Amino acid sequence: MPDDFELIRLQSWRSSAVGYSVCVFLARGQLIDTGFPGARRAVARLLEERRPRGVVVTHQHEDHAGNVALIAERGIPIAVARVTEEALRAGEANVGLYRRACWGVMAPLTSTLEPYEPAGLELVATPGHSPDHHVVWDAERGILFAGDLFLGVKVRVARPMEDPRALAASARHAAALRPRVLLDAHRGIVPNGAEALLAKAAWLEETIGAIDERIGRGWSDRAITSAVLGREDAIALVSRGDLSRLNFVRAVRATAARRAG
Ligand SMILES: [Zn+2]
Repeated sequence: MPDDFELIRLQSWRSSAVGYSVCVFLARGQLIDTGFPGARRAVARLLEERRPRGVVVTHQHEDHAGNVALIAERGIPIAVARVTEEALRAGEANVGLYRRACWGVMAPLTSTLEPYEPAGLELVATPGHSPDHHVVWDAERGILFAGDLFLGVKVRVARPMEDPRALAASARHAAALRPRVLLDAHRGIVPNGAEALLAKAAWLEETIGAIDERIGRGWSDRAITSAVLGREDAIALVSRGDLSRLNFVRAVRATAARRAG
């Protein structure tokens, strides 16, 4: 069913220079996610040409929420979780140079947002990648607009705000919706989406288990990282450790402490 959704891939010379792009989607006359600040002109053109009746935002990161202020300026209503809106208004401190260079800079949100009730689409909380992450679910058509929930089965690096335990639970939750089509904001269509989500959850649980076991034996974060996840690669260097394997282990340890009270 080709008119179930439309995928629009956004990139700039800066983002493509480092191999990054992000997708936004049109579904039932509504826009899902808003692209990154550096894609403002392309998004403005899209709004003019396609005139979406509303916009739905998956999470606070600048490659998804980067043009929320533009949407608000154009008077288009927006469905966004309260936690996401709060994060956008607060702004994110210390956004690394690699992110600013790739996507452009997102200023803290000051616009008033016109609330929106999506038609035939539902925001489903799926925390983990970020605390405010939601997927957008078209239950009737079986299409899951997964934002950054999936990204890949074995993603060994994490940002400081990630929670791998919550991510594993969210991947299982999304798989249980039994999506017919899984759309990843960076990878596009993911074949066998439900199975891919379950494989991701299983890999996360196994990896977290191996980390927990070593935490229990008193290992250091660095020793656990090299034993369980292997050596850091270029992205850790480029992002100055913002996106790293060590952060994955730290996140597991932080939530282990929380679980233990
Ligand atoms: Zn993200």
